[in-house]
Amino acid sequence: MGSFYAVLECSPTATLDEIKQNYHRLVKKHHPDKGDHTPDKFVQIDKAYKVLKDYKSRKDYDSSLLADSFNEHSLIYAEFRKVDICLDDDGQAFRPCRCGNDFVIEQKHLSETECIIECGECSNCILIR
Ligand SMILES: [Zn+2]
Repeated sequence: MGSFYAVLECSPTATLDEIKQNYHRLVKKHHPDKGDHTPDKFVQIDKAYKVLKDYKSRKDYDSSLLADSFNEHSLIYAEFRKVDICLDDDGQAFRPCRCGNDFVIEQKHLSETECIIECGECSNCILIR
């Protein structure tokens, strides 16, 4: 099973309204009263919505997602603070990776609370927070 965001077919940056809309749409589609319903799917949707509709539980869930991605990317090579990153005229900043490649940091990365950027060449990652 994917993340709760995937279940509700929205992005992790979706607003509560978007989440609500998707929830209502999907619940209708997979409702147990419908002939072709998929019970597991319905339960998943309901579970996902219960977590994401609440600011606090969504925040907790977001941190657990981040922790998961840490585990997946066991190689966090370095951490950088957003305030220390200065984008160039092209809207990019670079940090060298151990493999000789550069991590490319862009504005979209800085707009998130925490963000992991993968090296394009090896399996190292950096964390921006
Ligand atoms: Zn690398």
